[in-house]
Amino acid sequence: MQYDIIIIGAGPAGLTAAIYAGRAGMKTLVISEAIPGGQAMLTEEIENYPGFSSSVKGPELVENMHKQAKKLEIDFSCEMVKEVLKKDKGFSVKTSKGNFSSLSLIIATGASYRKLGVKGEEEFTGRGVSYCGVCDAPLFKNKEIALVGGGDTAVYEASHLLKFASTLHLVHRRDRLRATKIMQKRVLEDKKTVMYWNSVIEEIYGSKLMEGVKIKDVKNGKIQNVACKGIFVFVGIDANSNAFKNILKTDEKGYILTDENMKTSLEGAYACGDVRKKLLRQISTAVGEGATAAFCAQQYVEELKGIAYK
Ligand code: NAP
Repeated sequence: MQYDIIIIGAGPAGLTAAIYAGRAGMKTLVISEAIPGGQAMLTEEIENYPGFSSSVKGPELVENMHKQAKKLEIDFSCEMVKEVLKKDKGFSVKTSKGNFSSLSLIIATGASYRKLGVKGEEEFTGRGVSYCGVCDAPLFKNKEIALVGGGDTAVYEASHLLKFASTLHLVHRRDRLRATKIMQKRVLEDKKTVMYWNSVIEEIYGSKLMEGVKIKDVKNGKIQNVACKGIFVFVGIDANSNAFKNILKTDEKGYILTDENMKTSLEGAYACGDVRKKLLRQISTAVGEGATAAFCAQQYVEELKGIAYK
């Protein structure tokens, strides 16, 4: 099947691109590995997306974006992209289910949570170690848990987990958090938070289930055992750009380089959202980039077809 635009990824950036491409009459296919929504599906409350005076639930917001896109004549497919090739005019996208072609490509594959890489992390994943507060918080009602990280994800998740846990041992490698101040304050002032500054997780231990963590003070080298039933790991994200690294330019961390119109180094290919090198990773920035990427992809397609509006 020949498409005008193939969008890879269906988080807020990909879904917004789909809405704009569909409304512009582009024959569009959206391919996503998981159900549409991206990381926002794992976010309980979003307080900084404009238009909601209190807050909005992540799944509710992205499910509405998906519904809006599905009203248009767009194809959606849930499959894994294995390879993308640049052809003479356009792209060939090889997936786990087949091959698709398009004149233009929009990459909106986002980013994934990074692992801590310490002893016990892999062994106890799903048995105490978690990367999703929304999914697993109820399992830790009235229990002691640890959480590692100092960015926005860490404090947003901590704020949610504090509604369930009896104690939250918050471990951060420096003497200050990098997260938004208002959220920091909320978490640090909660009586259930025990803060470990300048500290790292040395080991996660247990038998059948996780039973505790070893926390090391990086200033004096002292290690203490803290008994807890779970640990939530939020130490940053990595760009989901492996399938594209051979065909376009990324920075040293794998984030895709674009110009201000979301154009990548590869003609006809655009990138938007968290997979892109940029300053601010937010749903509000992702949707603007998705709209821009779709508009520029549309112009590119119309020029190729010789129907560009002059
Ligand atoms: P991030 O901003 O990169 O923060 C990662 C945190 O983990 C940092 O505090 C970092 O410490 C720490 N860290 C990194 N590697 C570590 C390791 N090996 N061991 C221990 N600690 C480690 O990542 P994020 O919080 O996932 O956020 C990703 C992006 O999404 C950011 O741009 C963020 O603003 C955005 N975001 C926004 C919202 C929102 O506004 N609603 C919510 C979530 C995420 P250092 O501070 O020492 O570097």
